Amino acid sequence: MSIDKNTTLFSRAQQSIPGGVNSPVRAFKSVGGTPVFFEKAKGAYLYDVQGQQYIDYIASWGPMILGHGYEPVVKAIQQQVEKATSFGAPTELEIEMAELIKSMVPNVDLIRMVNSGTEACMSALRVARGYTGRNKFIKFEGCYHGHADPFLVKAGSGVATFNIQTVPGVTAGAASDTLTCAYNDLDAVEKLATDNKGEIAAIIVEPVAGNMGCILPKPGFLEGLRRICDEEGMVLIFDEVMNGFRLALGGAQERLGIDADLVTYGKVIGAGMPVGAFGGKKQIMEVVAPLGNVYQAGTLSGNPVAMIAGLTLLKALKATPELLMELDDKTQYLKDGLEEVLKAWGQPYVINHFGSMLSIHFSNQPVIDFATAAASDTVLFKKFFHALLKRGIYLPPSAFESWFLNNALTVDDLDKTIRAVKESLEEIS
Ligand code: PLP
Repeated sequence: MSIDKNTTLFSRAQQSIPGGVNSPVRAFKSVGGTPVFFEKAKGAYLYDVQGQQYIDYIASWGPMILGHGYEPVVKAIQQQVEKATSFGAPTELEIEMAELIKSMVPNVDLIRMVNSGTEACMSALRVARGYTGRNKFIKFEGCYHGHADPFLVKAGSGVATFNIQTVPGVTAGAASDTLTCAYNDLDAVEKLATDNKGEIAAIIVEPVAGNMGCILPKPGFLEGLRRICDEEGMVLIFDEVMNGFRLALGGAQERLGIDADLVTYGKVIGAGMPVGAFGGKKQIMEVVAPLGNVYQAGTLSGNPVAMIAGLTLLKALKATPELLMELDDKTQYLKDGLEEVLKAWGQPYVINHFGSMLSIHFSNQPVIDFATAAASDTVLFKKFFHALLKRGIYLPPSAFESWFLNNALTVDDLDKTIRAVKESLEEIS
């Protein structure tokens, strides 16, 4: 019955929205089938249009870290909506947000709020270019930094899922200053730095990558990027849109002990509202207008409803740091359970996990970069995805995405998931 309503809604959506969705990965194009249309969510559960319940391992791609409908956030939004939804003028909430972020994360003296991770990354890149007076930058294959033109080169997430080699509409000019190499390949970065000496403004990296599945930085990789940036006068940008306020209160910088020059945030800082931010060291951020001439702006940037939502969530995380530890423990519990059933299954698999990010690739080699992620068995992944969906477990519909756990998940939910994975593996073998 729920299939029928989803099918009807998907057909209707396709009449008016490209592919029926407002973001490509939602379309299930690569896993096949009809995307699930949802109506409500509470805690760790999603409910589709027919009331079918799912245990959620996407958490809206990261933001719902304490679960859906987290009461303090809901109440704060309701109260703010009564006061005002937008001014397009400064508010005290924006100052509170900037001060709170500065108190939680390292190396942020100045921070500007935007409306998405894409905006945050494209603005950080512009700042790095404006600050250094250089045009080129290095990004890693399979990393995704939003859909701004210069980043859509060998990008992860949906671009990888749909195997799009060159994105039509991104001009050769817009992409010509994008230098790419494999994630975790420090020698390749050294070579790019040498070959383009004095021309590279920045290196942008997902410290723990989540857009080709979850991929961990090898020991020494991020330290190497820091060293190269110092030696070459380049700006190190940590894209913490996924990692920020998830891997630690101070994000990947704190958890991995590496300083970035600029950092981008999104997802958790908006608690489910459209928010992003970029910030960093004073001498770099001072180039941003109106202090400097690197222009960047937004009608709804610092929107009061979005600010109160994010502030409330960040305050809760800061007040109770055990929450993130609990979430990590739950992820470790899930990982151990999955490991047990996958081992018993007897076919090749790789589980990568860090903090509360996790992914499974069906592969017989370590998954350490885009090439090894792409070499995994994506046909088997599709079957796995659907077998779990049928059992009420909602995973990202692509092997090139990370699972995001939320702290509303109970041990019972995790046990149910492990049992469902066991049954699913038996079904697809
Ligand atoms: N950077 C990273 C690491 C991301 O994962 C994403 C989105 O998933 C973005 C940037 C872009 O964020 P948004 O989708 O909010 O534009």
